[in-house]
Amino acid sequence: PPRVRFCPSPTGNPHVGLVRTALFNWAFARHHGGTLVFRIEDTDAARDSEDSYNQLLDSMRWLGFDWDEGPEVGGPHAPYRQSQRMDIYKDVAERLLAGGYAYHCYCTTEELDARRDAARAAGKPSGYDGHCRDLSAEQIAAYEAEGRTSIVRFRMPDEALTFTDLVRGELTFQPENVPDYGIVRANGAPLYTLVNPVDDALMEITHVLRGEDLLSSTPRQLALYKALIELGIAKGTPAFGHLPYVMGEGNKKLSKRDPQASLNLYRERGFLPEGLLNYLSLLGWSIAEDRDIFSIEEMVAAFDIKDVNANPARFDLKKCEHINAEHIRMLDVKTFTEACGPWLKAPFAPWAPEAFDATQFEAIAPYAQTRVTVLSDITANVDFLFLDEPVEDEASWSKAMKEGSDALLTTARAKLADAEWNAEALKNAILAAGEEHGLKLGKAQAPVRVAVTGRTIGLPLFESLEILGREKSLARIDAARA
Ligand code: GLU
Repeated sequence: PPRVRFCPSPTGNPHVGLVRTALFNWAFARHHGGTLVFRIEDTDAARDSEDSYNQLLDSMRWLGFDWDEGPEVGGPHAPYRQSQRMDIYKDVAERLLAGGYAYHCYCTTEELDARRDAARAAGKPSGYDGHCRDLSAEQIAAYEAEGRTSIVRFRMPDEALTFTDLVRGELTFQPENVPDYGIVRANGAPLYTLVNPVDDALMEITHVLRGEDLLSSTPRQLALYKALIELGIAKGTPAFGHLPYVMGEGNKKLSKRDPQASLNLYRERGFLPEGLLNYLSLLGWSIAEDRDIFSIEEMVAAFDIKDVNANPARFDLKKCEHINAEHIRMLDVKTFTEACGPWLKAPFAPWAPEAFDATQFEAIAPYAQTRVTVLSDITANVDFLFLDEPVEDEASWSKAMKEGSDALLTTARAKLADAEWNAEALKNAILAAGEEHGLKLGKAQAPVRVAVTGRTIGLPLFESLEILGREKSLARIDAARA
């Protein structure tokens, strides 16, 4: 069974691209009965933070992902935080050096820059030129005597590298485009270029599914793998599949800094994890041509990496919201009611905590469930129940309260006062009031709605009136007429 990994760096807030990668790896593992390894790539002390690490774990749990090895669950390849594996990387780097797979490079930044510029000017490949590949013992001694420091560089093979990407098919990289590259900094800190494939090897990863932005590191990793196999560190080379770019506004790559990319934003707005994941799964994959709403279980059952499309995917917030709304409709009403919890209290709810009435909320919840797009929409839809006075939305007010509204409200008030207090009777009362003024139901109910809820748009009016109750409803109509 396959072993896949999800290995983010804890830098900043989790973003949707990262979630998509996690999702595809998780679905792949679950579909094939494989193992998902969750590894934290926190070797960059300057950028990684404990806060981001905690956020990452919290986000993964919120999304409903589980992992078979990794933080909090442990596993045979622990530790799963790279910051705790530094000895391993040091050891591997030494073995690569000893085996001649890597070498010390003494070039200074100025020297590298100057040679790069010269190569560019001459129209030649401008990557590292192999200057330190085969230094003699005397040259090394001379550099050391000068007090130069060195980085460790991996020696790339001089022939073309070909591999079959699980998404893109066969790809070939020419050696002049993949020069020797650094794997350990001058201060001894190992780089992503080393630690990522070393851990994939040690953790026996069979399939690497990750974003297209990492495609350029794949030939380097393949070459490193070959060395690791020869050194007896790796058992084999994993298969690679690169997931397509996600494009944002203006057909630019969705960037981490793009507000639409922030996972926290979706949580705060009250997306359901299953709605968000359903949408994100469509970024490069589809379950069927004419279907875009499905459960996570259905996705897992259908997921095949061969169906992932290499073309860039476009991030469409409207579609994401639409899919989320569909998932809200599918909840049973009790789950929906509970899920609304956070948005019914501070800091979201504008009413006093003691004004909240759970019975009233449960009564109105089924109507709200068919209308909200995200859970945070609930607050403005039900605030009229719990506020002393409805929110007075000015635009709504001037739209609904026109000439004649006052007279209509007077008639409606009288008929409502005489009606039995249930939705059916209340509807008939307003119908009758409208008839007296030559108004259809839609026009007749608008001023009543604004008087009672403060807005022209909202939940079904007659049910709203029924739940708010006779006394408060009539008092609000009186206040609107005054
Ligand atoms: N830590 C790397 C990242 O955050 C992982 C890249 C990979 O999947 O190889 O992008």
